[in-house]
Formats: sequence, structure tokens, C-alpha cells
Amino acid sequence: MTLDNIKEEIKKANTIVIVTHESPDGDAVGSSLAMYLALKQLGKDVDIVIPTMPRIFEFLPSANEIKKEGRDIEYDLGISLDCTDTKRLEGFEPWYDNAKVTISIDHHRTNAMFADYNYVDPVSPACSQILVIVLMYLGIDITKEIGECILTGIITDTGGFKYEGVTTETFEIASKLLGLGVNLSGIYKKVMQVKTKANFELTKVIMDRMEFFENGKIAFTYITKKDEEKFSVEPGDHEGLVEIGRDIEGVEVSIFIRETEKGFKTSLRSNEYVNVAEVAAIFSGGGHIKAAGCTLPFVLEKAKEKIIERTKTFLK
Ligand code: 5GP
Ligand code: MN
Repeated sequence: MTLDNIKEEIKKANTIVIVTHESPDGDAVGSSLAMYLALKQLGKDVDIVIPTMPRIFEFLPSANEIKKEGRDIEYDLGISLDCTDTKRLEGFEPWYDNAKVTISIDHHRTNAMFADYNYVDPVSPACSQILVIVLMYLGIDITKEIGECILTGIITDTGGFKYEGVTTETFEIASKLLGLGVNLSGIYKKVMQVKTKANFELTKVIMDRMEFFENGKIAFTYITKKDEEKFSVEPGDHEGLVEIGRDIEGVEVSIFIRETEKGFKTSLRSNEYVNVAEVAAIFSGGGHIKAAGCTLPFVLEKAKEKIIERTKTFLK
């Protein structure tokens, strides 16, 4: 069983590197830090590598120990969390790739099963939720600090316990963590309510630019590098922008694209029936049924045209 293998490999390993996906969200950071704290508890020599760490998660325990790069060694073990494929693994090269053994723990249906040992549960609404099971299996004492990281992942990936993916287990875990003294309302406020100034400015811009297609079933908006420079945008400042279009009456798919070095990073959200992971897959992306992403290697007009054209074919 994969969990037995994972337990065995962790037991054997001394040097371990933890990595997660690019543009990390609360689940990526939360599950990575929870794993980091657990491995420290086991006395391992562990590095957690997140090159672009969003400022809003810096309050988490041991966030100050996150490194931008790994060490120049061949790690005994590489662990990837919340990541679908190697393309999205920030810090993948060379530390994770060169590790003697690799593990991936994830909850994306589109996971490419790229590691030596893959523990993937697409029914779980957050990677952090899966981690509770893994850590218990490893015999880890779930401390208040680990609980804070896990609850952050669960809250952010479930939109604050409101997405369809939420299970009875989600609340059971949240309840246990509350019992440990984890400050749910404090975390909720920090990761769901407080907006950075740049996020607020971007919200104004994307609302102003929002366009509707196909009788209002598609909402489309964008930001450019110029906007980002103007508002000194930092990692994490785009959080939640794509949700604004999805929440408008009649919209089935919300599309938000933002300019990056590689093209337009695209976020897709749906309401009822469109499987946006399939739309994203057309452009070599992936994700979940109602939340997915990809990169469109085109200029703005072309990117907009292509993504709208493809999305249209999924509408009823
Ligand atoms: P977001 O729009 O919040 O960046 O991403 C939504 C979901 O789609 C997340 O679960 C994320 O992991 C996934 N996702 C976003 N971009 C990509 C991508 O380029 N490739 C893949 N495979 N998944 C992505
Ligand atoms: Mn996740």
C-alpha cells in the first residue's frame, strides 16, 4: 500500500526536500508547512522550498524557515504537495528531480502520477485534509502549529467550507483542530477576509474590464504586467479575482487571465456543469472540475479569443 511505502521511505530518509506548485495558494503553503513540521518532529534534516511565498501566509508557524532554493546535495527524499504535474512544481529542478526517491501527495483529479510513490485522493477538497490521514499514519503528534497549517489549507481550498467538495471529514478535522486550540476565526480573517492593497486595486481594474459573452454565460477579464507594476503586485495578490466573475448571476464560466513571462496565466471557474479542467487540458493545463488553470502562450487579444472560443463549446 502506498501509505506503507511512504512511511518506510520517510523512515529511511535523512535529508528531505519539500516542494509545491507555482503561485502557491493556502493549501500549497499549508500542506507543505504541515509536512515540514511533522518531519522536524521525526528529527529529519528537512528543507522546505517555496521560491515565491505569498505574504499573507507569512503568519504561519515556521514560515520564516521557508527557503527560496534547496541545498546543493542529492536529497534522500523529495516530497511534492498539492501539485498535479512536474511542470507546475516550483523548485522542482534540481532538488526534487534529483532526489533518490520521490513522493507526491495531492488531491487533483488530473494528477500525472509523476513520483515514485503517489498518494492522490481526488475526493478530498484540500491536500491538507489528506495530510491529516498521512500524518496520523506516520504516528505524528498533530500539534497546534501543524493544525494551524492544515486548517489554513482546508479553509482556502474550500472557499471557507462552502465548496461542494467539502465532506463530513472536513468538519470532523476542523472540529478536532479547534479542540487543539487552533484559532479558526483568526485564520479565517487573515486568509479569507483581509485583502492586500494591491488586491483591492486589481479588483477595481478587473471589474471595470469585465466583459460578458454567450448571453452572459462567460465572464472574461484580465490584467497586464503594466497593471502589476503600477500597483506593485506581489505573489498572492491575484487571489480570489476569478471568483468575482463566477458570482455574477447567469455566469457559468468565469475566466481571468494575467500576463506572465510565459504568456497569460489563466484561471477558470464554473458554476453548474462545465468541467473547466477539460477546458484547461486543451491548453496543457488542469485542475478540478470547477476550478482549473493553464497558460496561454499568446498576446492578449489572441489569448482572449482562443480561451473564449474553446470555452463556448462546453456551454449548453
Ligand atoms: P488557480 O486558478 O487558483 O490558479 O488554479 C485553480 C486550480 O487549477 C488549482 O487547483 C490549480 O492547481 C490548478 N491549476 C492552475 N493552473 C494550472 C496549470 O497550469 N496546470 C495544471 N495542471 N493545473 C493548474
Ligand atoms: Mn489544493
